[in-house]
Amino acid sequence: MSNVSENSEVVVPKDFIRKIVEEDLACGKHQEIQTRFPPEPNGYLHIGHAKSICLNFGIAQQYRGKCNLRFDDTNPSKEEDEYVESIQEDIRWLGFEWDKKFFASDYFDQLYEWAVQLIRSGKAYVCDLSAEEIRRTRGTLREPGIESPYRNRSVEENLDLFTRMKNGEFPDGSHTLRAKIDMASPNINLRDPVMYRIMRATHHRTGDRWCIYPMYDFTHGQSDSIEHITHSLCTLEFENHRPLYDWFCENLGIYHPRQIEFARLNLTYTVMSKRRLLQLVQEGHVRGWDDPRMPTISGLRRRGYTPEAIRRFCEKIGINKIESLVDLQLLEACLRDHLNATAPRVMAVLKPLKVVLTNWEPGKVEMLEAVNNPENPDDGTRQIPFTGELYIEQDDFMENPPKKYFRLQPGKEVRLRWGYYIRCDEVVKDDAGNIVELRCTYDPATRGGQSPDGRKVKGTIHWVSAAHAIDAEVRIYNNLLTEPSLNDLPGDFLDYINPNSLEVLTHCKLEPSLASAEPGFRCQFERLGYFCLDSDSTPEQKVFNRTVTLKDSWAKEMKKQ
Ligand code: ATP
Ligand code: MG
Repeated sequence: MSNVSENSEVVVPKDFIRKIVEEDLACGKHQEIQTRFPPEPNGYLHIGHAKSICLNFGIAQQYRGKCNLRFDDTNPSKEEDEYVESIQEDIRWLGFEWDKKFFASDYFDQLYEWAVQLIRSGKAYVCDLSAEEIRRTRGTLREPGIESPYRNRSVEENLDLFTRMKNGEFPDGSHTLRAKIDMASPNINLRDPVMYRIMRATHHRTGDRWCIYPMYDFTHGQSDSIEHITHSLCTLEFENHRPLYDWFCENLGIYHPRQIEFARLNLTYTVMSKRRLLQLVQEGHVRGWDDPRMPTISGLRRRGYTPEAIRRFCEKIGINKIESLVDLQLLEACLRDHLNATAPRVMAVLKPLKVVLTNWEPGKVEMLEAVNNPENPDDGTRQIPFTGELYIEQDDFMENPPKKYFRLQPGKEVRLRWGYYIRCDEVVKDDAGNIVELRCTYDPATRGGQSPDGRKVKGTIHWVSAAHAIDAEVRIYNNLLTEPSLNDLPGDFLDYINPNSLEVLTHCKLEPSLASAEPGFRCQFERLGYFCLDSDSTPEQKVFNRTVTLKDSWAKEMKKQ
């Protein structure tokens, strides 16, 4: 596996798929490009899907073609309307709109007719082997498979049995319809693959109308064909299904789209399979599909990710044919870039320590001007209240600091952001010896953070006025996994779930301008990182999620080494 790290130069050359698309347009093979995004509605979309969405919708946009949304709903036991809804919401949130929306289940009648057509032409047969027997007789990479004893049934018998399969005369799993291809093919997918199975399950759209369901391989290519997809883009694991895709189109004599495979996205410290994500949800390892620790689009959204950052990330990683493991830091770097440009700055104290200014006139409130976003002057300024009782961060004070500590310490001065210089005169402790309050004096001549006598103060710390502060809970997230990649690791993936992926801080203090923030609101807490107001917030208690830290602590670690 190769690595794409945050610092590597990312050039975005035209990927191999766009080259194919351009050639096909140039030579007149296609007048208009038609792509599709084909999720199975058996879970929420994740960041890997975003790669496929950006590719399929992106190509349609770029070449003035069209992209359909098609729900690949051929496995009724796992599919639900909730997923259908969330998938649409997530695609739109990412900034894309489909041309037409289809369900593979819309094609069940057509697929059935096509199956009958293959039976009539002697290319499909009803097989009475069980799933287990089919697996056992399939052969291996070195050995050919064994032909089913039912392989040479007459067309009439096959038509009769298939009709009865459809009519519900046989129990689940007792028969299948198989394509009659080649049990000795080097490609195992061509060894008489199953086209239909009997399964009594209520389908989220067709209800109990069908008790036989087509397999993915008998559905996907034909659905592409019906929709006149020009380029059917899928991930590499379907490469050796392509001969089958082609076989069905050819033997049915229908429009034949071109399937092209690209490498799926793998991200460090990230689980990326719906099956595992579902397990995390069902077993309560996370709070739901949209838990901000989840790599789902809804989780990323709730965490505070922007669609722009995700699209930029997909652009940077590009499209190629080699599986790689992309560093999560790259995704975070894209997010930081976008939030740095767009997120207003505010002050929030996560672990408060009381500061009393002994020379401040009791009860006096002064309004100070603060710049909303130094990266974007159009965002203007706001007024923040300053008083004689403040909160600062516990970490911004040390009683016995090491040499290069420039924050507040006994007898020394520090600058309060947008405010004054203060000096710490006295440390108040409780009986247990914990620091409970700092008694300080402020210098009235330093308002706005400048000293008229040119006195240098190195440290600037953030603060909030105690009387005006809003109480909040802040949720700090860490990687969900303890290992960058689970490939080749022993045991179950749950063994590598980080027990400290969520840290909840309950007595945080926010500047009052955040009183009117609505869920989804993103901002930078100065010096701390980017944060997003969570939907768990109530009128009494705001809840913020830490979206991402300000700097990449990992990059800093790397520099130290
Ligand atoms: P998972 O393996 O996570 O369950 P899936 O492939 O079964 O995903 P689908 O709903 O079938 O999920 O995927 C819809 C489309 O998204 C497919 O074209 C699939 O190839 C693509 N896709 C899924 N995961 C990734 C990924 N990690 N990177 C890129 N594309 C992906
Ligand atoms: Mg799938």
